[in-house]
Amino acid sequence: MPTTVELDYLQGQLEQRKSRLESVLARTPGDSNLEALLREVDSALDRFDTGTYGLCETCHDTVERDRLLADPLLRYCLDHLTDGERQALQRDLDLASELQRGLLPPADLSIHAWETSYHYAPLGPVSGDYCDLYPCHGQLFFMLGDVAGKGVAASMCMTQLHALFRSLIGMGLPLEEIVVQINRFLCDSGLAGRYATLVCGRAAQDGSVELFNAGHLPVIALERGGVRRLESTGVPLGMFRDATFAPVRLHLYPGDLLFLYTDGLSEAAGKDGEYGVDRVMQLVAGQAANCAAGVVSACLEDMRRFAGATPGLDDVTLLALRHGAAAA
Ligand SMILES: [Zn+2]
Repeated sequence: MPTTVELDYLQGQLEQRKSRLESVLARTPGDSNLEALLREVDSALDRFDTGTYGLCETCHDTVERDRLLADPLLRYCLDHLTDGERQALQRDLDLASELQRGLLPPADLSIHAWETSYHYAPLGPVSGDYCDLYPCHGQLFFMLGDVAGKGVAASMCMTQLHALFRSLIGMGLPLEEIVVQINRFLCDSGLAGRYATLVCGRAAQDGSVELFNAGHLPVIALERGGVRRLESTGVPLGMFRDATFAPVRLHLYPGDLLFLYTDGLSEAAGKDGEYGVDRVMQLVAGQAANCAAGVVSACLEDMRRFAGATPGLDDVTLLALRHGAAAA
């Protein structure tokens, strides 16, 4: 159920829409579509008066808060959509899913002396997981993150992140400045509670890497045979407008690699509990002789072995970057 403040906001939104509709109708009387919308708005305002606003008309339970905030006219909870609403929701999901798949970087990209591989598997049609590789200005930029929440709203936030990163990188801004700008944008976007944990980095041809870990799980670095956790150095993006983000800098030699993942891996459940970051480290430690694609498949195989018959509960995204592949 929305909070009192949110309900006031929704009522204000409905009143604004009512007066907009009335003024358009005054100019173009007889538009049956607008008249029907006005009846819907009036009926929603009536429900405020009778105290039934936000309650599903079938089960009288509360309509999901996120959905109401996106569409104040909703009258049914997700379980009790009309056939038309169900089809419309399916169309939204199909479109969002197609949009997301279209944003993924090329598979097994090798460029600027880096060899990469990723695995991206949403649990449902869309995902709040974010994964991108973007060669620009002679360097390879990489991003992996997880937007809080699920469904179309989270996936739209992820597509915004994708576009923002690519435009800001294209402008040649320092990575730190890019992270600060994206954090402010998420805070200012008015989507309260829409935040994202994120790792983004810049890998140069000579093996030097600068990365930022904003509230995300530790990145695992395999350096000359030894593994190390690169812990988060900041809060998730979209939480605090004035947050600052500290870089982690390292130098990878040919054969070294970075491994990034979302909680779909580290929190995968098996009969012995959670997969866990330690197991990710152990796995990466044994991959010194493997190529990037091999590391990703070894990890997936190990996760499946661990989970056994326990079904996955979250989206899983993995990304491996290995230095020293033939320069493209
Ligand atoms: Zn219901």
